[in-house]
Amino acid sequence: MAQASVKTVFDDMETLKRELIRCMKCGNCMSVCPIYNVEKKEASVARGKIALGEAVLKDEIDIDDETLVKLIFNCLVCKSCMMACPSGVRFDRIILGLRSAIVKKKGLPFVKKALFGLLKNPELFDKGMKAFAAMQGFFLKSEGHKKRKPKGFLKTINPRLDEKFIVPELSKESFRDKVKEKIEAKDPQCTAIFFTGCSVNYLYPEVGDDLIYVLQRNNTTVITPKNQNCCGMPVMVHGDIESARELAKRNIDAFEKSNAQYIITVCGSCGSALKHEYPIILEGTDYEEKAKKWAEKVYDISSFLLKVIKFEKPKGKVELKVTYHDSCHLKKSMKVFNEPRQLIKMIPGITLLEMKKPDACCGSGGSYHLTHSNTALKISKSKIDDIKTTEADAVCTGCPACMMELFEGLHRFGGNCKVIHTVSLLAQSYRAEN
Ligand code: SF4
Ligand code: SF4
Repeated sequence: MAQASVKTVFDDMETLKRELIRCMKCGNCMSVCPIYNVEKKEASVARGKIALGEAVLKDEIDIDDETLVKLIFNCLVCKSCMMACPSGVRFDRIILGLRSAIVKKKGLPFVKKALFGLLKNPELFDKGMKAFAAMQGFFLKSEGHKKRKPKGFLKTINPRLDEKFIVPELSKESFRDKVKEKIEAKDPQCTAIFFTGCSVNYLYPEVGDDLIYVLQRNNTTVITPKNQNCCGMPVMVHGDIESARELAKRNIDAFEKSNAQYIITVCGSCGSALKHEYPIILEGTDYEEKAKKWAEKVYDISSFLLKVIKFEKPKGKVELKVTYHDSCHLKKSMKVFNEPRQLIKMIPGITLLEMKKPDACCGSGGSYHLTHSNTALKISKSKIDDIKTTEADAVCTGCPACMMELFEGLHRFGGNCKVIHTVSLLAQSYRAEN
Protein backbone atom coordinates (compact mmCIF):
# COMPACT_ATOMS: atom_id res chain seq x y z
CA MET A 1 0.00 0.00 0.00
CA ALA A 2 1.33 3.46 -0.98
CA GLN A 3 2.54 5.52 1.97
CA ALA A 4 1.51 9.15 2.46
CA SER A 5 4.01 11.41 0.65
CA VAL A 6 3.33 14.26 3.12
CA LYS A 7 4.84 13.77 6.55
CA THR A 8 1.94 13.92 9.00
CA VAL A 9 2.14 13.63 12.79
CA PHE A 10 1.42 9.94 12.28
CA ASP A 11 4.47 9.42 10.09
CA ASP A 12 7.16 11.64 11.56
CA MET A 13 7.70 12.46 15.24
CA GLU A 14 9.53 15.68 14.29
CA THR A 15 6.25 17.17 12.99
CA LEU A 16 4.84 16.83 16.51
CA LYS A 17 7.12 19.67 17.62
CA ARG A 18 4.82 22.30 16.12
CA GLU A 19 1.99 20.98 18.34
CA LEU A 20 4.07 20.40 21.46
CA ILE A 21 5.45 23.95 21.58
CA ARG A 22 1.94 25.40 21.71
CA CYS A 23 1.46 24.06 25.25
CA MET A 24 2.13 26.83 27.75
CA LYS A 25 1.88 24.44 30.74
CA CYS A 26 -1.05 26.35 32.26
CA GLY A 27 -2.69 23.19 33.61
CA ASN A 28 -6.22 24.13 32.53
CA CYS A 29 -6.60 20.61 31.13
CA MET A 30 -6.38 19.18 34.67
CA SER A 31 -9.84 20.42 35.60
CA VAL A 32 -11.56 18.52 32.78
CA CYS A 33 -9.50 15.35 32.30
CA PRO A 34 -11.55 12.38 33.55
CA ILE A 35 -8.41 10.33 34.18
CA TYR A 36 -6.62 13.07 36.12
CA ASN A 37 -9.80 13.54 38.11
CA VAL A 38 -9.48 9.93 39.33
CA GLU A 39 -5.71 9.38 39.44
CA LYS A 40 -4.44 12.89 40.36
CA LYS A 41 -1.13 12.25 38.59
CA GLU A 42 0.63 14.69 36.25
CA ALA A 43 1.32 11.88 33.77
CA SER A 44 -2.42 11.18 33.51
CA VAL A 45 -3.25 14.54 31.98
CA ALA A 46 -2.47 16.22 28.63
CA ARG A 47 0.26 18.48 30.07
CA GLY A 48 2.14 15.49 31.51
CA LYS A 49 1.91 13.54 28.27
CA ILE A 50 3.11 16.58 26.32
CA ALA A 51 6.15 16.71 28.63
CA LEU A 52 6.77 13.04 27.84
CA GLY A 53 6.56 13.78 24.11
CA GLU A 54 9.10 16.59 24.52
CA ALA A 55 11.43 14.26 26.41
CA VAL A 56 11.22 11.71 23.57
CA LEU A 57 12.07 14.38 20.99
CA LYS A 58 15.07 15.46 23.09
CA ASP A 59 16.23 11.82 23.20
CA GLU A 60 15.80 11.72 26.98
CA ILE A 61 13.41 8.72 26.81
CA ASP A 62 13.07 6.03 24.18
CA ILE A 63 9.72 5.89 22.43
CA ASP A 64 9.47 2.17 23.26
CA ASP A 65 10.30 2.61 26.96
CA GLU A 66 7.80 0.36 28.78
CA THR A 67 6.74 2.99 31.35
CA LEU A 68 6.30 5.63 28.67
CA VAL A 69 4.20 3.26 26.57
CA LYS A 70 1.89 2.57 29.53
CA LEU A 71 1.46 6.30 30.23
CA ILE A 72 0.80 7.19 26.60
CA PHE A 73 -1.89 4.51 26.33
CA ASN A 74 -3.53 5.75 29.54
CA CYS A 75 -5.74 8.27 27.74
CA LEU A 76 -9.36 8.06 26.60
CA VAL A 77 -8.73 10.35 23.61
CA CYS A 78 -11.91 12.06 24.80
CA LYS A 79 -10.66 15.52 23.70
CA SER A 80 -11.99 17.19 26.87
CA CYS A 81 -8.56 18.81 27.39
CA MET A 82 -8.78 20.41 23.95
CA MET A 83 -12.04 22.13 24.90
CA ALA A 84 -10.36 23.72 27.94
CA CYS A 85 -7.02 24.58 26.32
CA PRO A 86 -6.42 28.34 25.87
CA SER A 87 -3.56 27.65 23.41
CA GLY A 88 -5.57 25.47 21.08
CA VAL A 89 -3.19 22.53 21.49
CA ARG A 90 -4.33 19.67 19.22
CA PHE A 91 -3.76 17.05 21.88
CA ASP A 92 -5.51 14.39 19.78
CA ARG A 93 -2.75 14.78 17.16
CA ILE A 94 -0.07 14.55 19.87
CA ILE A 95 -1.40 11.44 21.56
CA LEU A 96 -2.14 9.62 18.30
CA GLY A 97 1.22 10.70 16.84
CA LEU A 98 3.02 9.28 19.88
CA ARG A 99 1.02 6.05 19.75
CA SER A 100 1.73 5.71 16.05
CA ALA A 101 5.48 6.16 16.70
CA ILE A 102 5.32 3.50 19.44
CA VAL A 103 3.60 1.02 17.11
CA LYS A 104 6.08 1.76 14.30
CA LYS A 105 9.00 0.98 16.63
CA LYS A 106 7.57 -1.86 18.72
CA GLY A 107 4.88 -3.30 16.46
CA LEU A 108 1.42 -4.17 17.76
CA PRO A 109 0.94 -6.57 20.66
CA PHE A 110 -0.20 -10.01 19.47
CA VAL A 111 -3.89 -9.67 20.43
CA LYS A 112 -4.28 -6.25 18.81
CA LYS A 113 -2.46 -7.45 15.69
CA ALA A 114 -4.85 -10.39 15.35
CA LEU A 115 -7.97 -8.28 16.02
CA PHE A 116 -6.96 -5.44 13.70
CA GLY A 117 -5.98 -7.93 11.00
CA LEU A 118 -9.52 -9.32 11.23
CA LEU A 119 -11.04 -5.83 11.14
CA LYS A 120 -9.11 -5.05 7.95
CA ASN A 121 -10.60 -8.08 6.25
CA PRO A 122 -14.32 -7.12 6.21
CA GLU A 123 -15.59 -10.48 4.96
CA LEU A 124 -13.64 -12.42 7.54
CA PHE A 125 -14.62 -9.92 10.25
CA ASP A 126 -18.29 -10.28 9.32
CA LYS A 127 -18.05 -14.09 9.40
CA GLY A 128 -16.22 -13.88 12.74
CA MET A 129 -18.90 -11.65 14.27
CA LYS A 130 -21.67 -13.96 13.08
CA ALA A 131 -19.84 -17.04 14.33
CA PHE A 132 -19.35 -15.32 17.69
CA ALA A 133 -23.05 -14.33 17.75
CA ALA A 134 -24.01 -17.96 17.15
CA MET A 135 -21.63 -19.19 19.88
CA GLN A 136 -22.00 -16.34 22.39
CA GLY A 137 -23.74 -18.73 24.79
CA PHE A 138 -20.37 -20.38 25.47
CA PHE A 139 -18.99 -17.12 26.85
CA LEU A 140 -22.03 -15.09 27.85
CA LYS A 141 -25.14 -16.24 29.67
CA SER A 142 -28.54 -14.79 28.82
CA GLU A 143 -29.79 -12.17 31.25
CA GLY A 144 -33.25 -11.48 29.89
CA HIS A 145 -34.24 -9.87 26.60
CA LYS A 146 -31.14 -9.13 24.47
CA LYS A 147 -28.87 -8.88 27.50
CA ARG A 148 -25.84 -11.01 28.28
CA LYS A 149 -23.50 -11.49 31.23
CA PRO A 150 -20.03 -13.02 31.14
CA LYS A 151 -19.58 -16.57 32.38
CA GLY A 152 -17.41 -16.90 35.49
CA PHE A 153 -14.17 -17.95 33.74
CA LEU A 154 -13.96 -14.62 31.84
CA LYS A 155 -13.27 -12.77 35.09
CA THR A 156 -9.91 -14.50 35.26
CA ILE A 157 -9.04 -13.02 31.85
CA ASN A 158 -10.22 -9.49 32.73
CA PRO A 159 -11.44 -8.43 36.19
CA ARG A 160 -13.96 -6.02 34.64
CA LEU A 161 -15.86 -9.04 33.27
CA ASP A 162 -17.30 -9.82 36.69
CA GLU A 163 -20.85 -10.74 37.74
CA LYS A 164 -21.94 -7.10 37.45
CA PHE A 165 -20.81 -6.74 33.84
CA ILE A 166 -23.56 -6.72 31.23
CA VAL A 167 -23.61 -6.27 27.45
CA PRO A 168 -26.25 -6.17 24.75
CA GLU A 169 -26.63 -9.46 22.89
CA LEU A 170 -24.83 -9.77 19.58
CA SER A 171 -27.38 -9.84 16.80
CA LYS A 172 -27.45 -13.08 14.80
CA GLU A 173 -28.33 -11.13 11.67
CA SER A 174 -26.37 -7.95 11.01
CA PHE A 175 -28.20 -4.75 10.18
CA ARG A 176 -26.53 -4.46 6.77
CA ASP A 177 -27.56 -8.02 5.91
CA LYS A 178 -31.23 -7.37 6.48
CA VAL A 179 -31.61 -3.81 5.16
CA LYS A 180 -32.17 -3.07 1.47
CA GLU A 181 -29.11 -1.33 0.03
CA LYS A 182 -31.23 1.49 -1.38
CA ILE A 183 -34.54 2.62 0.06
CA GLU A 184 -36.19 5.20 -2.15
CA ALA A 185 -38.24 8.00 -0.64
CA LYS A 186 -41.52 8.84 -2.43
CA ASP A 187 -40.72 12.48 -3.08
CA PRO A 188 -37.06 12.67 -2.03
CA GLN A 189 -35.53 15.82 -0.63
CA CYS A 190 -32.09 14.24 -1.12
CA THR A 191 -30.12 10.99 -1.12
CA ALA A 192 -27.96 10.11 1.87
CA ILE A 193 -25.58 7.28 2.69
CA PHE A 194 -26.13 5.65 6.07
CA PHE A 195 -22.74 4.84 7.58
CA THR A 196 -23.82 2.26 10.15
CA GLY A 197 -20.62 1.69 12.11
CA CYS A 198 -19.90 -1.72 13.65
CA SER A 199 -21.96 -1.23 16.84
CA VAL A 200 -25.22 -0.58 15.02
CA ASN A 201 -24.45 -3.32 12.50
CA TYR A 202 -23.88 -6.04 15.09
CA LEU A 203 -25.18 -4.86 18.46
CA TYR A 204 -27.89 -2.26 17.97
CA PRO A 205 -29.60 -3.05 14.62
CA GLU A 206 -32.80 -1.54 16.04
CA VAL A 207 -31.07 1.88 16.06
CA GLY A 208 -30.45 1.35 12.33
CA ASP A 209 -34.13 0.48 11.81
CA ASP A 210 -35.12 3.66 13.67
CA LEU A 211 -32.74 5.77 11.56
CA ILE A 212 -34.27 4.40 8.35
CA TYR A 213 -37.78 5.02 9.70
CA VAL A 214 -36.93 8.63 10.64
CA LEU A 215 -35.33 9.31 7.25
CA GLN A 216 -38.31 7.82 5.45
CA ARG A 217 -40.59 10.14 7.41
CA ASN A 218 -38.39 12.97 6.22
CA ASN A 219 -38.42 11.99 2.54
CA THR A 220 -34.78 11.04 2.30
CA THR A 221 -33.60 8.25 0.04
CA VAL A 222 -31.19 6.10 2.02
CA ILE A 223 -28.27 4.10 0.66
CA THR A 224 -26.65 1.69 3.12
CA PRO A 225 -23.60 0.40 1.22
CA LYS A 226 -23.09 -3.30 1.91
CA ASN A 227 -19.35 -2.96 1.38
CA GLN A 228 -18.73 -0.22 3.95
CA ASN A 229 -16.48 -1.35 6.81
CA CYS A 230 -15.25 -0.20 10.21
CA CYS A 231 -14.60 3.57 10.28
CA GLY A 232 -11.04 2.91 11.46
CA MET A 233 -11.27 4.81 14.73
CA PRO A 234 -10.53 1.70 16.89
CA VAL A 235 -7.27 1.03 15.06
CA MET A 236 -6.33 4.71 14.80
CA VAL A 237 -6.53 5.28 18.56
CA HIS A 238 -4.26 2.29 19.07
CA GLY A 239 -1.63 3.83 16.80
CA ASP A 240 -2.18 1.52 13.81
CA ILE A 241 -2.36 4.30 11.24
CA GLU A 242 -1.67 2.08 8.21
CA SER A 243 -4.71 -0.07 9.02
CA ALA A 244 -6.78 3.08 9.58
CA ARG A 245 -5.70 4.37 6.15
CA GLU A 246 -6.66 1.07 4.53
CA LEU A 247 -10.12 1.06 6.14
CA ALA A 248 -10.66 4.75 5.26
CA LYS A 249 -9.80 4.14 1.60
CA ARG A 250 -12.18 1.20 1.38
CA ASN A 251 -15.01 3.25 2.85
CA ILE A 252 -14.32 6.08 0.44
CA ASP A 253 -14.42 3.58 -2.46
CA ALA A 254 -17.84 2.44 -1.20
CA PHE A 255 -19.08 6.06 -1.02
CA GLU A 256 -17.77 6.81 -4.52
CA LYS A 257 -20.08 4.15 -5.98
CA SER A 258 -23.14 6.18 -4.90
CA ASN A 259 -24.56 9.48 -6.05
CA ALA A 260 -25.37 10.50 -2.48
CA GLN A 261 -25.23 14.13 -1.39
CA TYR A 262 -24.72 13.35 2.29
CA ILE A 263 -23.38 10.76 4.71
CA ILE A 264 -25.31 10.27 7.93
CA THR A 265 -23.85 8.79 11.10
CA VAL A 266 -25.45 7.78 14.40
CA CYS A 267 -22.13 7.44 16.24
CA GLY A 268 -19.93 10.33 17.35
CA SER A 269 -16.74 8.33 16.79
CA CYS A 270 -17.64 7.14 13.27
CA GLY A 271 -18.73 10.67 12.34
CA SER A 272 -15.56 12.14 13.76
CA ALA A 273 -13.39 9.62 11.85
CA LEU A 274 -15.10 10.32 8.52
CA LYS A 275 -15.33 14.08 8.93
CA HIS A 276 -12.15 15.03 10.75
CA GLU A 277 -9.65 12.16 10.66
CA TYR A 278 -9.84 10.86 7.08
CA PRO A 279 -8.61 14.13 5.50
CA ILE A 280 -5.65 14.13 7.91
CA ILE A 281 -4.60 10.49 7.73
CA LEU A 282 -4.98 10.49 3.94
CA GLU A 283 -3.10 13.77 3.44
CA GLY A 284 -0.54 13.39 0.67
CA THR A 285 -2.10 10.18 -0.67
CA ASP A 286 -4.11 9.76 -3.87
CA TYR A 287 -7.25 9.74 -1.67
CA GLU A 288 -6.67 13.19 -0.17
CA GLU A 289 -9.14 15.08 -2.38
CA LYS A 290 -11.81 12.39 -2.16
CA ALA A 291 -11.45 12.29 1.63
CA LYS A 292 -11.95 16.07 1.82
CA LYS A 293 -14.93 15.94 -0.54
CA TRP A 294 -16.75 13.28 1.46
CA ALA A 295 -15.80 14.82 4.81
CA GLU A 296 -17.87 17.88 3.92
CA LYS A 297 -20.91 15.69 3.38
CA VAL A 298 -20.82 14.01 6.81
CA TYR A 299 -23.55 14.87 9.34
CA ASP A 300 -24.71 13.40 12.58
CA ILE A 301 -28.40 12.52 12.21
CA SER A 302 -29.52 15.31 14.58
CA SER A 303 -27.75 18.10 12.66
CA PHE A 304 -28.81 16.56 9.32
CA LEU A 305 -32.47 16.73 10.34
CA LEU A 306 -32.32 20.23 11.76
CA LYS A 307 -29.80 21.92 9.46
CA VAL A 308 -29.88 20.16 6.10
CA ILE A 309 -33.41 19.09 5.23
CA LYS A 310 -36.94 20.30 5.81
CA PHE A 311 -37.69 18.48 9.04
CA GLU A 312 -41.09 17.13 10.00
CA LYS A 313 -41.66 17.84 13.66
CA PRO A 314 -42.66 14.75 15.68
CA LYS A 315 -46.21 14.88 17.06
CA GLY A 316 -46.59 11.58 18.92
CA LYS A 317 -46.57 11.83 22.69
CA VAL A 318 -43.78 10.09 24.61
CA GLU A 319 -44.31 10.58 28.35
CA LEU A 320 -40.75 10.41 29.64
CA LYS A 321 -38.29 12.32 31.78
CA VAL A 322 -35.05 12.25 29.80
CA THR A 323 -31.49 13.29 30.49
CA TYR A 324 -28.97 13.69 27.66
CA HIS A 325 -25.37 12.42 27.73
CA ASP A 326 -22.96 14.16 25.34
CA SER A 327 -20.74 11.61 23.63
CA CYS A 328 -17.17 12.98 23.72
CA HIS A 329 -16.57 12.65 19.99
CA LEU A 330 -20.02 13.96 19.06
CA LYS A 331 -19.63 17.10 21.15
CA LYS A 332 -15.91 17.71 21.35
CA SER A 333 -15.00 16.66 17.82
CA MET A 334 -18.16 17.07 15.73
CA LYS A 335 -19.41 20.02 17.84
CA VAL A 336 -22.92 18.57 17.91
CA PHE A 337 -24.65 19.18 21.24
CA ASN A 338 -27.48 21.68 20.71
CA GLU A 339 -29.23 19.76 17.94
CA PRO A 340 -29.94 16.53 19.91
CA ARG A 341 -31.36 18.62 22.77
CA GLN A 342 -33.51 20.59 20.35
CA LEU A 343 -34.88 17.36 18.90
CA ILE A 344 -35.59 15.87 22.32
CA LYS A 345 -37.41 19.02 23.45
CA MET A 346 -39.59 18.98 20.32
CA ILE A 347 -41.09 15.59 21.27
CA PRO A 348 -44.46 16.11 22.98
CA GLY A 349 -44.56 14.70 26.52
CA ILE A 350 -40.78 14.70 27.09
CA THR A 351 -39.12 16.64 29.88
CA LEU A 352 -35.38 17.16 29.44
CA LEU A 353 -33.53 17.15 32.76
CA GLU A 354 -29.88 18.14 32.48
CA MET A 355 -27.11 16.48 34.47
CA LYS A 356 -24.55 18.64 36.30
CA LYS A 357 -21.89 17.50 33.81
CA PRO A 358 -23.67 16.09 30.75
CA ASP A 359 -20.46 16.17 28.69
CA ALA A 360 -18.29 14.33 31.23
CA CYS A 361 -16.88 11.15 29.64
CA CYS A 362 -18.76 7.91 30.44
CA GLY A 363 -15.48 5.98 30.76
CA SER A 364 -15.83 3.81 27.67
CA GLY A 365 -12.98 5.11 25.48
CA GLY A 366 -13.42 2.20 23.05
CA SER A 367 -11.52 -0.53 24.85
CA TYR A 368 -10.22 1.71 27.70
CA HIS A 369 -12.95 0.35 30.01
CA LEU A 370 -11.42 -3.11 29.64
CA THR A 371 -7.72 -2.21 29.54
CA HIS A 372 -7.85 0.31 32.41
CA SER A 373 -10.85 -0.99 34.29
CA ASN A 374 -10.05 0.48 37.75
CA THR A 375 -9.93 4.07 36.50
CA ALA A 376 -12.74 3.52 34.01
CA LEU A 377 -15.06 2.18 36.72
CA LYS A 378 -14.54 5.32 38.81
CA ILE A 379 -15.28 7.51 35.79
CA SER A 380 -18.37 5.43 35.06
CA LYS A 381 -19.59 5.73 38.66
CA SER A 382 -19.38 9.56 38.56
CA LYS A 383 -21.43 9.56 35.37
CA ILE A 384 -24.06 7.21 36.76
CA ASP A 385 -24.31 9.23 40.01
CA ASP A 386 -24.89 12.36 37.93
CA ILE A 387 -27.59 10.59 35.88
CA LYS A 388 -29.31 9.35 39.04
CA THR A 389 -29.54 12.82 40.57
CA THR A 390 -31.67 13.96 37.61
CA GLU A 391 -34.27 11.25 38.44
CA ALA A 392 -34.78 10.78 34.70
CA ASP A 393 -36.55 7.68 33.34
CA ALA A 394 -34.16 7.46 30.40
CA VAL A 395 -30.70 8.59 29.40
CA CYS A 396 -30.43 9.49 25.77
CA THR A 397 -27.20 9.74 23.77
CA GLY A 398 -25.91 9.87 20.20
CA CYS A 399 -23.27 7.15 20.36
CA PRO A 400 -23.69 3.34 20.56
CA ALA A 401 -20.39 2.93 22.48
CA CYS A 402 -21.69 5.33 25.15
CA MET A 403 -25.00 3.43 25.16
CA MET A 404 -23.12 0.22 26.02
CA GLU A 405 -21.09 1.90 28.76
CA LEU A 406 -24.11 3.65 30.31
CA PHE A 407 -26.12 0.43 30.16
CA GLU A 408 -23.32 -1.40 31.95
CA GLY A 409 -22.79 1.41 34.48
CA LEU A 410 -26.48 1.61 35.36
CA HIS A 411 -26.59 -2.14 35.86
CA ARG A 412 -23.44 -2.11 37.99
CA PHE A 413 -24.10 0.94 40.13
CA GLY A 414 -27.89 0.72 40.25
CA GLY A 415 -30.40 2.87 38.47
CA ASN A 416 -33.76 2.35 36.81
CA CYS A 417 -32.93 4.47 33.81
CA LYS A 418 -33.37 3.13 30.28
CA VAL A 419 -30.67 3.91 27.71
CA ILE A 420 -31.86 5.11 24.34
CA HIS A 421 -30.35 6.62 21.19
CA THR A 422 -31.66 10.06 20.19
CA VAL A 423 -32.87 8.74 16.84
CA SER A 424 -34.82 5.95 18.57
CA LEU A 425 -36.58 8.47 20.79
CA LEU A 426 -37.57 10.43 17.70
CA ALA A 427 -38.77 7.28 15.92
CA GLN A 428 -40.81 6.41 19.02
CA SER A 429 -42.60 9.76 18.77
CA TYR A 430 -43.30 9.37 15.04
CA ARG A 431 -44.65 5.88 15.65
CA ALA A 432 -46.84 7.13 18.51
CA GLU A 433 -48.68 9.36 16.01
CA ASN A 434 -50.31 6.21 14.64
S1 SF4 B 1 -7.94 13.24 25.83
FE1 SF4 B 1 -9.24 13.04 27.67
S2 SF4 B 1 -8.26 11.46 28.89
FE2 SF4 B 1 -6.73 12.11 27.38
S3 SF4 B 1 -5.55 13.71 28.43
FE3 SF4 B 1 -7.20 14.76 27.31
S4 SF4 B 1 -8.87 14.95 28.79
FE4 SF4 B 1 -7.42 13.43 29.61
S1 SF4 C 1 -4.59 23.41 28.80
FE1 SF4 C 1 -3.43 23.33 26.87
S2 SF4 C 1 -1.74 24.78 27.14
FE2 SF4 C 1 -2.59 24.40 29.16
S3 SF4 C 1 -1.30 22.70 29.97
FE3 SF4 C 1 -3.11 21.74 29.05
S4 SF4 C 1 -2.46 21.30 26.94
FE4 SF4 C 1 -0.97 22.77 27.75
